[in-house]
Amino acid sequence: MTIAPKKQIKIAIIGAGPGGLAAAINFLRIPFVELSVFDQATELREVGAGISINENTWRHLQLLGAAQEIEQYSNRGDGNKIDGEHRNGRTGELLSRRFQSVNPDAPPRSRIQRYKLQRALLSRVPEDLIQLSKKLEKIEETAEGVTVAFTDGTKAGTFDLLIGADGIRSVVRQYAFPDHKLSYTGKVAYRTIIPASKVAHIKEIPPASTFWHTAKTHVYTDPLDEGLFEIATRASESEEHGKKVSWGQKVSKEQVIRHYDGYCETVRQIIAAPDEWLEFAMFGGPRLESVIHHDRIALLGDASHPLSGAFGSGAAFAFEDAHVLARAIQYAHNHNRSVGEALKLYDEIRSPHYKSLYSVLNEFADNAKEIEAISPPLEEDDMIAESTRRNWKTSNDWIYKYDVTKVWDESVKELETQQSFQDLTLEASQRKVAVEADVPQALVSA
Ligand SMILES: Cc1cc2nc3c(=O)[nH]c(=O)nc-3n(C[C@H](O)[C@H](O)[C@H](O)COP(=O)(O)OP(=O)(O)OC[C@H]3O[C@@H](n4cnc5c(N)ncnc54)[C@H](O)[C@@H]3O)c2cc1C
Repeated sequence: MTIAPKKQIKIAIIGAGPGGLAAAINFLRIPFVELSVFDQATELREVGAGISINENTWRHLQLLGAAQEIEQYSNRGDGNKIDGEHRNGRTGELLSRRFQSVNPDAPPRSRIQRYKLQRALLSRVPEDLIQLSKKLEKIEETAEGVTVAFTDGTKAGTFDLLIGADGIRSVVRQYAFPDHKLSYTGKVAYRTIIPASKVAHIKEIPPASTFWHTAKTHVYTDPLDEGLFEIATRASESEEHGKKVSWGQKVSKEQVIRHYDGYCETVRQIIAAPDEWLEFAMFGGPRLESVIHHDRIALLGDASHPLSGAFGSGAAFAFEDAHVLARAIQYAHNHNRSVGEALKLYDEIRSPHYKSLYSVLNEFADNAKEIEAISPPLEEDDMIAESTRRNWKTSNDWIYKYDVTKVWDESVKELETQQSFQDLTLEASQRKVAVEADVPQALVSA
């Protein structure tokens, strides 16, 4: 007797940023998946200067087969090299310092230009897979699945699974959770990459990634490879201003410089070096209780957790989402389970993780309130030292070391010990036998 072939699953990914690309690479490896990828961009290019490659980012780049593309730019240390520093932005005083790992198997800790990350991911995806100039406008659910409509008047579908990897302003999230609202955080980021020669005359620039803190904002400096130097800052700007800024808008040096008068001479000179900056208004939103909708829609990356760039590891979070979602779809398929059951598994693993990340953010907010309330009030430099000590403590390193592949393995092991799972497996195998028995004889090959 032949066994009815397992059904193909049609999946659409909206968005080809780090999250969508990682999901695409994962799903391309699954033979029963028919994949479509759409992005609103006319061409895929990255804005926004540098991006940190943390331990978890590196792990997934290796799993995705894209690490080789990055390795040539990374700065593998021998234990003596300074990896990162925190300094008082007003005085330049060193508050803490870490060295690169001596473990030869440890991922290289590096900062790279963002486009290189995207290029590494794109190298793993067939060129014609991503359909460009497809701005998602509308989603419709029918008994058969999900269809999508784009602003150019075209439609696609029906899909068994729609993945919203469409970033912080996700249209898919808006459809699935219409009450969820983003708001302006009151902060903008100014970012740029310049030739290192432009800051070579400035004394006392640390040779590693450095956060220069004041009570309300920070400046980040990092000598990159290829003779480049990155500066990324935060500044407070009015609500009116923040709402007008488009993502990655060019601004003059005058607009930026005025925010950093209170910083030490070294930082002021660094900030004065570039002629042009890009401005990003930071928006964020509350945590979603769940990152799935109606057994057919899953949110991934910034769409699933509008954290507003907090932790500087959003690409890794998106990679983790993509890994778990693909494993869950594969697992459910192998066990005759539905896409809906796969999504539940995905949600059960990822939502608690985001809950933990949001609680770290709440802790930051509590720290700020507690430090403000200390009596007698702390001098500004003591305040900076105290908030750096509390917010950058090594006990938050779990965020960057988090290994979702182990979490996945443990979750599956736990699931398989549950009686309800065993009952369902039995039920599914009986269902399969019943389906096979129903196959018309004419279709059964000899
Ligand atoms: C200031 C700042 C600094 C950061 N620094 C770091 C860092 O150092 N390290 C790090 O790991 N992360 C960092 N992040 C976070 C990181 O950039 C994001 O988490 C990451 O890019 C998320 O990837 P994503 O694919 O989910 O979303 P995005 O990168 O936003 O990609 C979304 C994609 O969807 C497409 N899209 C959007 N809407 C539609 C639509 N309607 N229809 C079709 N396509 C659509 C977009 O064109 C885009 O290609 C930072 C973020 C900010 C804001």
